[in-house]
Amino acid sequence: MSKQNKRHEALLYHAKPRPGKIQVVPTKKYATQRDLGLAYSPGVADPCLEIEKDISKVYKYTNKGNLVAVISDGTAVLGLGNIGPEASKPVMEGKALLFKIFADIDVFDIELKADNIDDFVNTVKNIAPTFGGINLEDIKAPEAFEIERRLKAELDIPVMHDDQHGTAIISAAALLNSLELAEKKIEEVSIVISGAGAAAVSCTRLYKAFGAQSENIVMLDSKGVIRRDRENLSEEKAEFASSRKIDTLEEAIKDADVFIGLSVKDILSAKMLKTMAVNPIVFALANPDPEIDYNLAMKTRKDIIMATGRTDHPNQVNNVLGFPYIFRGALDVRATKINEAMKMAAVKALANLAKEPVPEQVNIAYGETKLTFGREYIIPKPFDPRLIAAVPPAVAKAAMESGVATKGITNWENYQDDLYA
Ligand code: NAP
Ligand code: MG
Repeated sequence: MSKQNKRHEALLYHAKPRPGKIQVVPTKKYATQRDLGLAYSPGVADPCLEIEKDISKVYKYTNKGNLVAVISDGTAVLGLGNIGPEASKPVMEGKALLFKIFADIDVFDIELKADNIDDFVNTVKNIAPTFGGINLEDIKAPEAFEIERRLKAELDIPVMHDDQHGTAIISAAALLNSLELAEKKIEEVSIVISGAGAAAVSCTRLYKAFGAQSENIVMLDSKGVIRRDRENLSEEKAEFASSRKIDTLEEAIKDADVFIGLSVKDILSAKMLKTMAVNPIVFALANPDPEIDYNLAMKTRKDIIMATGRTDHPNQVNNVLGFPYIFRGALDVRATKINEAMKMAAVKALANLAKEPVPEQVNIAYGETKLTFGREYIIPKPFDPRLIAAVPPAVAKAAMESGVATKGITNWENYQDDLYA
């Protein structure tokens, strides 16, 4: 299909038969006068009074416990940049659609006009009583870090900035499995991170939680290697500054085991790739065009293990493998947070699922004959129906064990059955 046709198809999809991608659907009967008297006045007063007496009953009598706000100010939308709140709405509606179809979570998409961090934080705090969880989306760094930090501290419902943690979780699962295939240990590998934005910082933190060593990590931004002796480093960049006396990607990549690209297209050349260690792991995740073209990379190194953010190549690092299931698990135990333990549990569940035999329907959905764990299949595919039974229980268990769950699950078999249903 030509570019022009694709554009036309995308615009038509959004415009017809009715504008947008989601709608509100009542969940109770509304056919008779009696139904209406229950749904609204006078019947509605009874649950109101119950909740007034005991606020936790809001989970019993309203949709709060299954309702997530997807909130953006439109400052860092996809690869499109700061396009404003209205222009970000198709993305947030899209996210709502994904939450619904993969985890049956209802979403209100909220596009904020917020002029500063205080404005953003206060608005979200003020609307938080409506929701069981908050998914922050497409907010530019470094503001995104402070917004998330403050909301996590001040709210008692799960808050997650998906551009940071979603990517971290999926790529960490891919990294663990790639290292297993390359027969290397995370504690020993040398890792080059291209990019120092929201995604890169959060990914690197999570890799460290899994054992990656600070002294083996070199991070680069638009100015080159982030060195300790560079002046005016932000708090986040200082955290990953290197003591090595090098400046360029070319220098950093030599003999590196892992390249993680969360920056811009075409900055890793074939020449540089050739200098990486044996079985190089290359996650070129810049969207829509990766740090090195997939075909060029495959041609350059036969021993490569490669992932991108794209659907048209194997090993797509796609956040949809994470957020629906992480929120599902968090909501189901009424977690007050999405903490490190829960994120790490999601990583392990995803990594392990990729090593299980793949059901035939997944092969069919992707036009594959036999997906099996290996260089071309290091993480599960989004349309894998086992995700819903694999990830939420792991997240819920981790929430309970780490003390942030306010409601327990005792019968895990029943819970898994409910998830499948
Ligand atoms: P961001 O916060 O805007 O960060 C972009 C970072 O890239 C900045 O640190 C910037 O440096 C750096 N950069 C720019 N040019 C560079 C260069 N030539 N060499 C090295 N670094 C350079 O954006 P983000 O949300 O972290 O996303 C970054 C990229 O990752 C985007 O392409 C995005 O599409 C992609 N991404 C992919 C996935 C996925 O595949 N699932 C998920 C998330 C993000 P300065 O700090 O100096 O400006
Ligand atoms: Mg996003």
